Amino acid sequence: MSGRGRRRPAGGRARSIASAIGCVAVLGIGAAVALQAPAQGEDREAAAAAPGGKAMEAAPANPAAPAGGESIAAAALYDTVRAYVEAGPAAEGLPSKDRVRELIVNRLEAAGARPRVLPFSVVTPAGPWDLENVFVSINPAAKDRVLLGAHWDTRLWAERDPDPARRDQPITGANDGGSGVAVLIGLAAELAKAAPPEGLGVDLAFFDGEEGFEGNLREWFYGSKELAGRWDRTGVALPRAVVIVDMVGRKGLRIRREGIGNARPAGRRILDRIFAIAKEKGYRSFVDEPGIEVLDDHLPFLARGIPAVDLIDLDDPHWHTHGDTLDKIEPQAMAEVADVLLTWIRRGAPSQ
Ligand SMILES: [Zn+2]
Repeated sequence: MSGRGRRRPAGGRARSIASAIGCVAVLGIGAAVALQAPAQGEDREAAAAAPGGKAMEAAPANPAAPAGGESIAAAALYDTVRAYVEAGPAAEGLPSKDRVRELIVNRLEAAGARPRVLPFSVVTPAGPWDLENVFVSINPAAKDRVLLGAHWDTRLWAERDPDPARRDQPITGANDGGSGVAVLIGLAAELAKAAPPEGLGVDLAFFDGEEGFEGNLREWFYGSKELAGRWDRTGVALPRAVVIVDMVGRKGLRIRREGIGNARPAGRRILDRIFAIAKEKGYRSFVDEPGIEVLDDHLPFLARGIPAVDLIDLDDPHWHTHGDTLDKIEPQAMAEVADVLLTWIRRGAPSQ
């Protein structure tokens, strides 16, 4: 995910934004503005995250898995993040990016899924890029579908790192990249073992190029824009609901209601269900409170009129720094997110 609006001072902000990529958090603006033209975000101001931020810091780590019916092995999710980190970074232009894509495809296949690589080309401020989304369709004939998405690319820069000398180097992206990938692969494995309810199709999208360009460039979300804009390539019906997971693996994870998705009635209903499931299971990774607005991979789908929400926790002190490493990952936090989504699917997801 990219930049957080509130970090922008009134003046002299060009530098901090210029290299930020990925998720951008904003608050207090009309969602429609954000959807249509991130480039017009100059007047956006961010607001502080939820009022409970302090308490969150002091909260203990997520508890051991409570009873909840579904179960996803936290260790397997963690192992995927470990493998993502070892193979990566999946930063554009590096050979390690190919290794990460192969890792994702291989793990999906080993889990019993049938991934497809959907290549596309974009012209970026850094020149032409050949990018690749990875896509899995479960129950492809079903007309009633949901899409779960996460970005698999790793940020090329660490503009928030305390060491200025290292800000031009790719991050590790254990949380910002690896955690979302792990949750989706974990879900693919569970859905291969036991299919979704009859009539419900589930698509999993691993987006490339989420970590784009900010500042004056303001380009990002290449993969989700591509998929939302050329959905016909998938050969399946459009989703009725989209849930993005991004940065869902840190110790002390606290996901609140991302503001843009929650501002729409249909998005609010999706979040109502998701947070209700989390509450029922006693999962502390979810805090049912308003959160900040974040520019992320849900936006291209919202722009198409598809209900879309973003499960994200931007209160990660290591966000876009070289501290975003494996030791900051909490396996149980990811397992809670995956379990909530699996339960949401098992219960039929939304049919709108
Ligand atoms: Zn990011």
